[in-house]
Amino acid sequence: MEKPIFPAKTMRITQGYNEGTHVDSYAIDNADIDYGISNIYAPFTGIIKKIYTNDANEVWLESIEPVEYPDGTIDYLTMMFAHANNIDHLFVGKKINMGEIFYKEGTKGNVTGAHCHMECGQGKFTNNGWHKNNAGYWSINNGKKPEECLWIDDTITIKESYSYNFRKIEKEEPIIENKKSTETVEKKESKDFIFVAPKKDLYGVYLKENQKLIIKSSE
Ligand SMILES: [Zn+2]
Repeated sequence: MEKPIFPAKTMRITQGYNEGTHVDSYAIDNADIDYGISNIYAPFTGIIKKIYTNDANEVWLESIEPVEYPDGTIDYLTMMFAHANNIDHLFVGKKINMGEIFYKEGTKGNVTGAHCHMECGQGKFTNNGWHKNNAGYWSINNGKKPEECLWIDDTITIKESYSYNFRKIEKEEPIIENKKSTETVEKKESKDFIFVAPKKDLYGVYLKENQKLIIKSSE
């Protein structure tokens, strides 16, 4: 199951949720490394559900399958992105793979400086995808805080997180045996039998009681 990931390589949030034009929404603006135009990477594998070119080239991406939210929720996730200057390559129904550069920051709509406005909504795309909120701004349906929807990892540089507590995907650590058993292995090293498979195939191995078989891939 995919863990949806923050869709920019540099997190530099310039406007948080519930402030300014984001009142009564969980929208954030990310301006990446500078006010130039940076790429937006698909946070999950999804389908484009709606494109709205009359305002800020808003694009709705709905996950193809339920995803694992950092707050433990398992559900579909829909995101809306805004301000790209050109979205001619996108169309409703297009499949976008996780990590694919599918959108860019931009200045379309009412903005100063290129950035990407993004909102997360829990679940599938519903109705028109958005609604006019109490502050008069159009906001994604079923809006949810970005830090409750998106993970970060080592590939993302954090410049300004707005003190939102994004959870990090930890790399899976190799299982390290405790010291005692490591020593035992070292002492017995000369008895180790190493067989390198010459080709991809099935191999049979006869094991005595308590013998350990360790299979390593040399990639
Ligand atoms: Zn915004």
